[in-house]
Amino acid sequence: MLDQLPLLPADPILGLAAAARADDNPNKVDLTVGIYMDEQGLCPVFDAVQRAQRQLVEEETTKAYMPASGDAAFNTGIQKLVFGEDSAPLLAGRISSIQTPGGCGALRIGAEVIAAAVPGAKVWVSDPTWPVHIPLLGSVGLKFENYRYYEPDSHGVNFDAMVDDLKQAQAGDVVLLHGCCHNPCGADLSLEQWGVVADMAENQGFLPFIDIAYQGLGDGLDADAAGLRLLAARLPEMIVAASSSKNLGLYRERTGATLFLCRDGNSAAALQSQAQVAARRVYSMPPAHGAIIAGKVLTDPALRASWEAELQGMCQRINALRSQIRHQLEAATDRDFGFIEREKGMFSFLGLSKEQAQKLRNEHSVYMLDSSRINVAGVNARNIDALAAAVGQVVKG
Ligand code: PMP
Repeated sequence: MLDQLPLLPADPILGLAAAARADDNPNKVDLTVGIYMDEQGLCPVFDAVQRAQRQLVEEETTKAYMPASGDAAFNTGIQKLVFGEDSAPLLAGRISSIQTPGGCGALRIGAEVIAAAVPGAKVWVSDPTWPVHIPLLGSVGLKFENYRYYEPDSHGVNFDAMVDDLKQAQAGDVVLLHGCCHNPCGADLSLEQWGVVADMAENQGFLPFIDIAYQGLGDGLDADAAGLRLLAARLPEMIVAASSSKNLGLYRERTGATLFLCRDGNSAAALQSQAQVAARRVYSMPPAHGAIIAGKVLTDPALRASWEAELQGMCQRINALRSQIRHQLEAATDRDFGFIEREKGMFSFLGLSKEQAQKLRNEHSVYMLDSSRINVAGVNARNIDALAAAVGQVVKG
């Protein structure tokens, strides 16, 4: 029975990362996978996370299952982190959440709840979007429609086209939005544009589903959630998938949350119960380790201050790198790379063709996706010259 199943190709992103690992060129540059890397090319553990982890190891007396909704401190912490300490809907009891295995788990649980409300609902996704959105949401039977978003010629959001497409979104439809630091393009909506999306959601009745996986890595914790909070202040309902992988560095601990903004407290309780039942049929209980750590970091004032300072340092480093990459690429080519500085978060498309991206890989050991998406945080003082020189050669030659 099982032997009829074929070997599947590797995931395009993870497959490229494996190829980069296997490359024995000592000067290789790996800008494939979206993890934050420091100047040494390492993905660090936050100091506050280390300290919280030590506390956890000291205090832990059981490995019994977590509650179905997950760690209480984590839920409180992530609700405030996402919606803001003084969020009116939060204070009104209109928000509930459930801890999930990472942002992926959060997206999947959000999709399960949407499918329970409207089986086969149509989800509008940006063109392009993070490719994993499709299997995560599609596997519960949701259907997709693209809305135009990134325009390669201007290296920015084609907002008029986005609005034009979303005019067709109706009540019962879902519009998936990247909360900040769009993956893969790095081009985000302005606050004014978020306001237009709020108008459209109000008038047309579609449900925003916001994926926020990079809060704190664009402009800062509050600034990165400003668009989402604008919607939350105006709309009756919304779902958010939050990830603690990047901003708390808890990637492998699989820590995230699905958050529900509801019409009232009763509905918030109902949605949490829906999410728990959905989780029960997928994986039952969430993992403990990362969420207990995150709960401590988010709610203990000293750990919180240390974490925020370290996160701010990462954010500043990414933005400084954006400026350096822009200037070095402009010096190595005769092209305008100003867009890299205007974009936010860990990703940008360099605007190269698939052939050029492959040439960079095959002839220069510089690894980026075929779309020329780079992980900005993978660049450092030791590899930036090699990156610029290789891009220069490929673009000119
Ligand atoms: N959404 C987006 C846009 C992402 O880029 C990622 C991570 N690459 C996630 C969600 C989920 O991350 P995780 O499951 O690792 O928390």
